[in-house]
Amino acid sequence: MIEYKSTRGSQNVKSGAQAIIKGIAEDKGLYVPSEFPKLEVSIDELVNCDYRQVAKAVLPQFLTDYTEEELDHCINSAYDEKFEAPEVVPVVKAGNAWITELYHGKTAAFKDMALSILPYLLTTAMKKEKEDNKIVILTATSGDTGKAALEGFADVPNTEIIVFFPDTGVSQVQKQQMVTQEGENTHVFGITGNFDDAQTGVKKIFGNADYAEELAKMGCKLSSANSINIGRLVPQVAYYVWSYVQLVKQGVLKAGEPMNVVVPTGNFGNILAAYYAKQMGIPVNKFICASNENKVLTDFINTGIYDISERFFRVTNSPSMDILISSNLERLLYHLSGNNGDEVKELMASLDQNKKYEVSDKIKEGLKEFYGGFASEAETKEAIGKLYKEDKYLMDTHTAVAYKVYQDYRQETGDETPTVIASTASAYKFAEAVCDAIGLPQFRNGFDAISALYAFTGVTVPKGLRNLDSKTVRHTGVVDKEQLWDAVQGSLK
Ligand SMILES: *Cc1c(COP(=O)(O)O)cnc(C)c1O
Repeated sequence: MIEYKSTRGSQNVKSGAQAIIKGIAEDKGLYVPSEFPKLEVSIDELVNCDYRQVAKAVLPQFLTDYTEEELDHCINSAYDEKFEAPEVVPVVKAGNAWITELYHGKTAAFKDMALSILPYLLTTAMKKEKEDNKIVILTATSGDTGKAALEGFADVPNTEIIVFFPDTGVSQVQKQQMVTQEGENTHVFGITGNFDDAQTGVKKIFGNADYAEELAKMGCKLSSANSINIGRLVPQVAYYVWSYVQLVKQGVLKAGEPMNVVVPTGNFGNILAAYYAKQMGIPVNKFICASNENKVLTDFINTGIYDISERFFRVTNSPSMDILISSNLERLLYHLSGNNGDEVKELMASLDQNKKYEVSDKIKEGLKEFYGGFASEAETKEAIGKLYKEDKYLMDTHTAVAYKVYQDYRQETGDETPTVIASTASAYKFAEAVCDAIGLPQFRNGFDAISALYAFTGVTVPKGLRNLDSKTVRHTGVVDKEQLWDAVQGSLK
């Protein structure tokens, strides 16, 4: 049986369902599995499976307290026709890599992979735990999580969802996706600050016992749809198993041979899922962690020092990676330290007080499985233009960061291990930058850019982005970054 423990040492263990409902542990740590489960089926057996079947080989291993029927229901409901690609996740060759396209869900970003299943996992958990409070999902977003969480939770009974996004830190398309969200239980606010301000504000609400009491009086309980929730992380493991199986199926690898994984990284959730897949038995040679100009993770992987004291936050054309405090790194530190909660607690306290920490030699040793690199704004655009010109493959800005870092990795190391790049968004979601990158005129308006990009490339526009500009705006609130609690209270009245 797999139980969940806090990364910060509290001995209070939870079942999977309980950890999903709580979101974050009472000592503010993140839930991690007490041990790593192994895949019980062989890769060769998975080769002829569809995406749902692969998910069914992965999720039950982590969520041992859910019944098979419960998980089948969650998986079947999540990964259905709302994904516009019949394979759910196509894995296609482009340039010198294989691209795992994770963006064919409703909101055209990879967050749909986890957030289309999380509401099912959560409502199932509520039934199992006989939870009769209303669950209030509180989410900070750099753009894509918010919309994917809103789509996932809209009108789900006994839930409310409240989303905070940096008012001037998301793309026009991302903002329009969120402020036009339908659903009686949806609440969306811009904040005057950046993503870290939103995330810090939300974490403060989670950590405040008085707020929890006030909410309890209203019959409400907080939970999180951010990647701090273990219910976000576990479904992501499945697509790394899937990617590996596709490489075997396509004859690129024989079962057992290693692959590399490249992930455009923000909060470190996606790349951590790849690490979890390796613990389950998928042979991964290198985890290539790609950052944009907010390159705190690049420096961390190269030095073992996480330092945000002298950094300023940059707004880039890959905004979903504009993050300085990568929450899920805490989970990796825990695993690499040999499950040492006290050590992690100290590191996190140091980050809080001194804005930096340096990890132990043991953790530094573990970090050698990772390669850290970053791409500048210019390099990101250049990568998009080059791959489109050479291979007619259109990628978004986030994927392009990963693609560029992979080229650097290959050059530096000469490593030719077949490599999968996690493609995290449709190019149409960041159409202004993509147009510019492939030599089209520069558009100020995201919707004009979508039309021009379609006219030029003929690549299908995701359903959720068609006619988005003519949708009715339903959410107009903007709140000060210190006033998030007021907005929460107001939403629940
Ligand atoms: C969220 C997001 C990322 C970063 O993923 P993490 O799991 O936070 O590291 C990268 N690209 C896109 C398009 C995203 O939406």
